[in-house]
Amino acid sequence: MIFRQFFDSVSSTYTYLISSGKGREALIIDPVFEKTNQYIQLLEQLELKLVKVIDTHIHADHISGLRELQKRTKCITLMGEGAPAEVISMHVKDNEKIEIENIKLQAMYTPGHTDDSYSFLMNDRVFTGDTLLIKGTGRTDFQNGNPYDQYHSLFDKILKLPEETFIYPAHDYKGENVSTIGEEKKYNPRLQVNSVQEYVKIMENLKLKNPKMMDIAIPINSGKKNI
Ligand code: FE
Repeated sequence: MIFRQFFDSVSSTYTYLISSGKGREALIIDPVFEKTNQYIQLLEQLELKLVKVIDTHIHADHISGLRELQKRTKCITLMGEGAPAEVISMHVKDNEKIEIENIKLQAMYTPGHTDDSYSFLMNDRVFTGDTLLIKGTGRTDFQNGNPYDQYHSLFDKILKLPEETFIYPAHDYKGENVSTIGEEKKYNPRLQVNSVQEYVKIMENLKLKNPKMMDIAIPINSGKKNI
C-alpha cells in the first residue's frame, strides 16, 4: 500500500494520499490549495490516478485543494452530508463506504468541531479531521461547532475503536504526526473528563483567537467565492 502524509507548515495541516499500489487509483484527504503541484508531482511519479478527494469538513484555516485537484485531474470531490453542494460532487452519510481500487474507507459522522465534520476509517487507521487531534481536540466555537456533539462523537464513536487504531488528524501544532486510540484515551488532557458537562466546560473556556485565514477560507471552501 502507498500511504503518504504531507505537511503544510503555514496552516499546520496534514494531508494524506492513499493508494493500493503503483499504477492504481488514489485518494487524497484534506488537500491544501497551495500544495497542489506537490500532490500532482507525486501522483505522476508513482503513476497514480487520482479518483477521489475528501475534505473532512469545511476548513477555516486554509484554502482547500479540492476544487483545484478536481479541475486538474477530473477526480470526484467528496464530503459528508450537509457540506455545501457547490464544491462537492459526492456526499456520503454516516457508515457509508467509499471505495477506490482495492481500498475501502468508512465514513463516520463526527460533528462537534463543525456540524459537517466527518472522520474516515480505513482498517487499522482513522482520519479524524479536527474532531480528535493528537493530545487535543478541535475547537467548537464557530461554524456551528458544538462541544456536546463533539463529546458524543469522541466518546460514543471514535474512542470505541480498538485501542491500537492509528489516529491521523488534519492538524498538529507540536510536531507529532500519528497517535493511537489507546494513547489518546490515556494521555489526551481533553479526554480526562468524567462527564459531558466537564468536557463542555473545558471547551467553553479555551478563549481562542479566530484563525487568520477564516474570513477568506470559509467562503472559498464552501463555494460562495472563487479563489
Ligand atoms: Fe477545522
